[in-house]
This record gives sequence, C-alpha cells and structure tokens, in this order.
Amino acid sequence: MSEKSEKPDHRKLGRELDLFTFSELVGGGLPLWTPNGTLVRNLLDDFVWELRKKHGYEQVDIPHLTKKDLYIKSGHWDKFEDELFKITTREGHEFAMKPMNCPHHIEIFNRKIWSYRELPVRYANTTKCYRDEQTGELSGISRTRAFTQDDAHVFCRFSQIKEEFFKIWDIVHEFYGAVGFDLDVRLSLHNPDEKEGYLGDSSVWENAENQLREIVKEKGVEAKEQIGEAAFYGPKVDFMAVDSLGREWQVATIQLDMNLPERFDLTCVNENGERERIAMVHAAIMGSIERYLSILIEHVQGALPLWLSPVQVKILPIADPHKSYANETLATLTENGIRADIDEGNETLNKKIRDGKLKKIPYLFVIGDKEIEEKTVTVESRDGKTLGKQTLEEILKLLKKEIDSKA
Ligand SMILES: [Zn+2]
Repeated sequence: MSEKSEKPDHRKLGRELDLFTFSELVGGGLPLWTPNGTLVRNLLDDFVWELRKKHGYEQVDIPHLTKKDLYIKSGHWDKFEDELFKITTREGHEFAMKPMNCPHHIEIFNRKIWSYRELPVRYANTTKCYRDEQTGELSGISRTRAFTQDDAHVFCRFSQIKEEFFKIWDIVHEFYGAVGFDLDVRLSLHNPDEKEGYLGDSSVWENAENQLREIVKEKGVEAKEQIGEAAFYGPKVDFMAVDSLGREWQVATIQLDMNLPERFDLTCVNENGERERIAMVHAAIMGSIERYLSILIEHVQGALPLWLSPVQVKILPIADPHKSYANETLATLTENGIRADIDEGNETLNKKIRDGKLKKIPYLFVIGDKEIEEKTVTVESRDGKTLGKQTLEEILKLLKKEIDSKA
C-alpha cells in the first residue's frame, strides 16, 4: 500500500461514520448532515456556547440574506463581490447570501444608543454562511459553499480590548485543550505595500497591531508575525492546531477591528456625555464547524472521543436468549444519558465485535449466559482494551468520568 492511501481522509471516514452526505441535486460544496453528524455538530457547538456563556456572551440570530446596501457600507461588496451568491428579487432589488455575520450583528448593536456602563456587549451566533467557491477548490467538508461559523462579536471601549481578548483566549484554550490539540499562536498583520487590499488608514492599523503585540507579549507567548495575513478590516491573533500527523491548521481567530466601527459609526456615550468611538472584536472558536470537524476526524482517525461519539456503547447479545437482558441494559444506559444501541443481527460474536470496532464505537458490551447469571457485562473498547466483566454501576461510573473530561 502506498503511504498516501493510508493517510486518514475525512471524506471516507465521514461516510463510514455516517456523519454527512452530498447530493448531485443539491450541488457541490453543500453538505447535508445526517442525524449522527447533526448530533456531533450540536455537541461541539453546545460546548463552545457553555464556555462563552461563562464570559457574558448573549445569543442573537439573523437572516441569511441581506440587501446589497449593507455590504456596500461594510466594504464586503467591493472586496468579496466575486464570492457572493447574489439574488435579484422579483421586484428587481439586489440581495446577497451572507458570506459573514459581522455587518448583521453591527446592525443589531446599532439599534439603540449605548451608555459606556453597558459595554462590552458580546453577541454569539452559530449560523451558516455562503461563499461561491469554485468547483475545483471544493473538498469534502473542509472547503464548502455553505459552512457554519460559531461566530461572536464583542463591542467594547478601547480600554476593554485587552480583557476581552484574554477572555476569548481562555475559551480557545479550554476548547482545544479538551480535544487534545497543541496550539501555536500567530500574529496576522497587514502588508503596508498593498494598501488597497485593506480598509482604513495606516494610523488605525498601526494602533491596532501594536495593541495585539502587547496582548501577546502580556500572555507570554511566542507569536510569529505574518505580514499580509490580516483580515481586510483588521489584524488577527490566529491559533494553529497541530494534529496527530504533525500538520498545522489555522483554527480559532481573534480579530481586532477598528475599521467597521468607523464605517458604521459605532459609539457609546462616555462619562462626559459625549459620543465615543468603540472597537469591535471578531471571535470564532472553531471558525467553521465543517472545516473543524474535517480536521478533528482526521486527527482522531475517525475515533471521535466518547463525549462526541454518536453511539457510545453497542450491546452485543451472543444469542437470542440474551436479548431480554440486553434490552434491560440498554434501558439503564439510556436512563443514565448514555447513547447506546443493540446489535440485533444473527452474525457470530466475532463478526459483531469486528463490525463495532470498524464503526469506531468506543465501547462494546458483550452479553451471554455468564453475564446474565452474574448481572454483569463484558466490556471491550475499540482500542482493544479488554475491561473484562463489570457491573453496570462500575462501568457507568467510568463512562461518565470519561464523558465529563471530554478527552
Ligand atoms: Zn466578524
């Protein structure tokens, strides 16, 4: 076998785990999520939200379309025109599918006048975005035309930027630490020789970039500076995850934006009763759930951690007389919040075990005469560890501990 064919491929693994599918009729780059895949996405998103909630974020929701006018004002129409999915309504108005969420969130913020006392305001929103990628660029769920951002925007005073960055930094570390990725940090800066690619003047950029240098320094982190890698509206702190194959992926980003607040005239009323310009921070933890999942699936070679596995336990009755105890076991597991099912097939036990391991089911519970007699199950894990005979009480304790650790 060539080395290439042995490398994990999320497209193949995703099919084996039955996480997503594509349809000729729906179109390329538009993944469809099965019940298993939707469960995994929701678990990941819930985890991010749990971490955000602790830091004072609030959820908002927005439509997936907007009038062209919003993107003229934000600068996206000029900058992203080729990648926008455009729609002309029957009344002849031009609309576009959203390629990002910032301008919509800005319009939520701008619904009222804010006192400095109410800031920072932190909006979180997991929502799909759409970009007209070229067919040749599409790849499984890692590069798609419809993708889901676990997006958030913070509206704050300049004096609050640092603290908000540190909060997001904590969320990033908690999230990626649990999944077992090592993170490198990069500072993505603008290229002063290519001014036309960016919004805003050089003094705004210099100020923003110096703020980020200070934040990274205060964190005591070695960050490589990458010229020309900034977003068009501001510099970023990028987190790079190193996977089990030694490959590096850009995952989370924290972006400081002093340009969109200018364009949309974002202010608060300060202590002196004056309007004061504020800053904006863009903060995605997974970035795109689709792309993040493609990285995670390959990183773990399809063996999703227990807390993310769609089926956590498969119960294998050896023969028909063992099925009623198998059902009792299933009921106990379900009552305790464990996702389990029974292999009802008539194949041999060896075949059932092979099948369960192929599907990367974390734990297999074998049930035969002995187990029924002793009120136990014989536990085998997908990595070949035989945990032997366990009472349900014992094994539930182990499972819950592993789920809580998210390891
Ligand atoms: Zn944004």
